[in-house]
Amino acid sequence: MPAPATVNATETADAYRTRIRTWLADNLVGRFADLRGAGGPGREHEHFGERIEWERHLAAAGWNCIGWPTEFGGAGATLRQQVIFHEEYARAQAPVKVSHLGQELLGPTLIAFGTDAQRRRFLPAIRDVEELWCQGYSEPDAGSDLANVRTTALRDGDEWVITGQKVWTSLAHVADWCFVIARTEPGSSRHHGLSYLLVPMHQPGVEVRPIRQLTGTAEFNEVFFDGARTAADNVVGDPGDGWRVAMGTLAFERGVATLGQQIGFRRELQRLTDLALDSGVLDDPATGAGLRTRLQQAWVDLDVLRAHALRTLGAPDPGSAAVTKLLWARWHRDLGDLAMEVRGAASLTADPDLDEWQRLFLFTRADTIYGGSDEIQRNIVAERVLGLPREARAGASAATGGPR
Ligand SMILES: Cc1cc2nc3c(=O)[nH]c(=O)nc-3n(C[C@H](O)[C@H](O)[C@H](O)COP(=O)(O)OP(=O)(O)OC[C@H]3O[C@@H](n4cnc5c(N)ncnc54)[C@H](O)[C@@H]3O)c2cc1C
Repeated sequence: MPAPATVNATETADAYRTRIRTWLADNLVGRFADLRGAGGPGREHEHFGERIEWERHLAAAGWNCIGWPTEFGGAGATLRQQVIFHEEYARAQAPVKVSHLGQELLGPTLIAFGTDAQRRRFLPAIRDVEELWCQGYSEPDAGSDLANVRTTALRDGDEWVITGQKVWTSLAHVADWCFVIARTEPGSSRHHGLSYLLVPMHQPGVEVRPIRQLTGTAEFNEVFFDGARTAADNVVGDPGDGWRVAMGTLAFERGVATLGQQIGFRRELQRLTDLALDSGVLDDPATGAGLRTRLQQAWVDLDVLRAHALRTLGAPDPGSAAVTKLLWARWHRDLGDLAMEVRGAASLTADPDLDEWQRLFLFTRADTIYGGSDEIQRNIVAERVLGLPREARAGASAATGGPR
């Protein structure tokens, strides 16, 4: 597997930042110029094909999966370098990645828990954006309570045969593969007897039904497995040990990329502030002062968010990760509310389509749900940080939630 030679051990942080910034400025041009600001929650449909091309272009230059160790095809970038990369990527308004579930969740999971054969088979295609992945965790009765998974996978010769339903599966309609939590030990319950399977999506036993969202777009799906098959070797970790692997994946979800997300937040808040200043709403005698205070508070809270994320990045424990999730989800959801107030009456009509602020408002309703809902995060803080009594659940260990 060729290692992209993008990391130089003696390079200073400033020089590294300049190199990324220059590369992005030189390359986010021409056919890629329109991609600035494209994609992301509620907008995954935007310039889909062109974003794939852009990600392949990044890969060819060695800028994909930079945090993976070099022996697995990454660039071996340090945590600091990854932070710089994500900050510069967001600052340049480079498009949100279509391949993030593979690059940020499954890739690190295979590096941590996979076999050499699995790494050789799957990692290059993730890095080079040749295969897209989706995450098959949630089911109709297994969201926050992920241990309630009912999808089964039974051995039939050299294959697993999978039957069951997943839901809210982001990007399943474009994915080539799905990492699926399934019950492989009949009669087992809760987090025992689960396995972490890699399942090809393009086969007769898999049906994907898009779910139309409030925004009018459909980027997550129901996925039905009806006798779908995957090779016996496509289990990550030991059969029956899938809960441990699944929790490992969730830990990667809250990695360094969240700092790039915050640069995106900063851009949104700047645009909203500019809109408020230009539109004159801040001079309204009835509401101006209140809006001004809320905008100021949003700027202060954003700095708190960033400081907290940086402080807890190196050694993420469940409590810190839960607080980070609570802080950013609340902040972003409130930004959606604030945008509607700044827009005033114009926020109530679509003309003819939703504008960017209406989309932001509608999609930010989901922020406090995906990746573990607010209530679940508070339970984690209460039980694991404050040491309060655990809530009564029969043998339960609630998940920290799925991704988006
Ligand atoms: C935009 C988006 C994308 C998603 N993408 C994916 C994906 O790609 N793959 C995937 O597998 N999943 C995905 N999900 C699913 C996500 O992980 C779940 O929505 C989430 O885990 C919550 O589960 P649920 O929807 O079943 O709600 P439930 O678990 O049924 O919760 C309903 C409500 O009850 C509250 N609640 C539940 N349990 C408790 C408790 N013990 N104490 C207090 N309150 C509680 C919750 O906070 C919530 O308010 C996505 C969700 C969204 C919104």
